[in-house]
Amino acid sequence: MAEESPLDLLICSTCGSQHAVTTGLSSCKICDDPRQYLPAHGQSWTTLRKLQDSKQYRNEFVIDKLAHQSGNKNLLLVSIYTVPKLAIGQRALLCCTPRGNILWDCLTYIDDETVAKINDLGGVSAIVISHPHYFTTCLHWAEAFGCKVYLSSEDGEWIMRRGDPARQALWTGNRLPLLGPVGNDENKNEDGADFVAIKTGGHFPGSSVLWWKETRKLMVADTIMVVPSGVYHIDRLPGTVSFSFMWSYPNFIPLPPDEVHNIWKAIRDTDFEDAHGAFVGQDTRGDSRRRVLESAKLIVKNMGYVGHAIHAEEA
Ligand SMILES: [Zn+2]
Ligand SMILES: [Zn+2]
Repeated sequence: MAEESPLDLLICSTCGSQHAVTTGLSSCKICDDPRQYLPAHGQSWTTLRKLQDSKQYRNEFVIDKLAHQSGNKNLLLVSIYTVPKLAIGQRALLCCTPRGNILWDCLTYIDDETVAKINDLGGVSAIVISHPHYFTTCLHWAEAFGCKVYLSSEDGEWIMRRGDPARQALWTGNRLPLLGPVGNDENKNEDGADFVAIKTGGHFPGSSVLWWKETRKLMVADTIMVVPSGVYHIDRLPGTVSFSFMWSYPNFIPLPPDEVHNIWKAIRDTDFEDAHGAFVGQDTRGDSRRRVLESAKLIVKNMGYVGHAIHAEEA
């Protein structure tokens, strides 16, 4: 083989994570974890080069038509996802503002067309990833857009491909303001920032959500899972959830009640109306903050904890 290229680094076919080597891997740390799984045929690998050369995949872009809650027509929320489905099959959300764009979560598949389309939308100022299931080829994306990808320091052991700190930052603390008034993506002043990443823990120790202040939107990924009864929620009977909170989604392992409570505490003071999950169609429109608490209480109660402290919380 000619000189080693990042395009030839091994990618786990099940979770889509790119590892730092081109040969010699027997298992994927992310899929070995009890939160994940392997399919019936076991572990298999691919590479970005194989995926691109197959000409089988492309990334679809869909602009959210209801993104203008604030009335500011310069703000766009764009869902990006790979067709046909690849690995976990999540979407990434490009949050576009006049000051710059934040890419929330990431996809394994990237090609020249994807880069060109995103550059037409203003490029990427920073990538923030909710948790290790979407680490994918994030370093490759950061290099392609000349920006930094932010990963929670608590989840550092899950980073399968380490990069230059100028491209890959492990953020500490519970809140990360992004896109300040002067376009500084590490603005320390949350008041002036357009976005705040907030650590909630739960699904992973560093699991986080992204708050887009002006649109009053919360990007929730797997930390707060939008469930089917949350999407169309008009005139639903009392006791109908909008969200779930689990340690493992594929294997249906719940989180302890205190962890569910901690997720609520982390976002309790955050003003948002809509929530956007990790998969196409996982959108709750309106009253989502109150619905997070309602769902958390229902789930804790159904686990048998009727006297838990979360029931004293008010939205
Ligand atoms: Zn994997
Ligand atoms: Zn996950």
